[in-house]
Amino acid sequence: MKGIILKNQNGYFTISGEEGKVSLCRSRGTLKRKTNILVGDYVEFETDKGSEAVITHVYPRKSFLHRPPVANIDQLALVCSIRTPDLNYFLMDKMVVLSENAGIEPLIIISKSDLDADGAEKAVKYYQTAGYQACTVSLKNYSGITEMRDYLSGPVIAFSGPSGVGKSSLLNDLLGIDYFISGEISRQTGRGKNTTRHAELVQSSQGYYLMDTPGYTHLDIETIDTQELSFLFRDFRPYLGNCRFNNCLHDQEPDCAVRHALETGRIQKERYDSYKRILEELKTTRRR
Ligand code: GDP
Ligand code: ZN
Repeated sequence: MKGIILKNQNGYFTISGEEGKVSLCRSRGTLKRKTNILVGDYVEFETDKGSEAVITHVYPRKSFLHRPPVANIDQLALVCSIRTPDLNYFLMDKMVVLSENAGIEPLIIISKSDLDADGAEKAVKYYQTAGYQACTVSLKNYSGITEMRDYLSGPVIAFSGPSGVGKSSLLNDLLGIDYFISGEISRQTGRGKNTTRHAELVQSSQGYYLMDTPGYTHLDIETIDTQELSFLFRDFRPYLGNCRFNNCLHDQEPDCAVRHALETGRIQKERYDSYKRILEELKTTRRR
């Protein structure tokens, strides 16, 4: 039977199989030694071998994210609130670069639009102009929910973004139950209640596999080549290859097509500023 790994607890895998039936499995000896099975992996498993179900095969991965490690995410829902905490365009631009680098389609969600409707609308325009799907949402006055749902394609969707932006609240709303713990800092532990350190997928009635992750806000910057960074800015792509130098980093070089697009208003200034800032970070990392 084919299934997808939802959870791994010390080598016991929770698998969602055909007809959404959930089984508990271990992996077979040789497979266990050879393959590191991840949440999100599509596997073949057998339920009729003795008392315990066993995983017999792991299918090739379509995508991979580490921190936390998870396979086959189809869509990254990048959530940032417009206020409390304030939207940080640079951080959001970085998260978009990360999803481009992982080959996963991002959906930009500007949450808490009730706190600044105009600001949220402006942010959505900024990302749509850059070529990305983006929407605003508010759970407070329950607006934008249908539009957001229309943008979800999945089937495997990770919600990512800083703490406190409303990820758990949005996920619970999608699930129709309070599965993800939402709210303020935990009184017991003093840390964000969102102690989702282990990746876990939760099945929704709409057929999505949903994940909440505090990770992926910090770009794994070391893996990106300075020469490749501009390709991870979707809005820069039409101009790439037209610079005077074919190794142009679109910084100070003469006859740069990207900078020309910036100067003629076809690339937004803030996007270019984010590019330059990430480029500098990459160069600094390289020098260390
Ligand atoms: P997470 O850390 O990203 O999972 O965020 P939570 O879902 O725990 O939400 C953080 C805080 O924001 C909670 O106090 C929520 O009640 C609040 N919140 C969530 N959605 C909204 C919204 O649409 N508008 C406003 N004003 N507050 C919200
Ligand atoms: Zn250039």
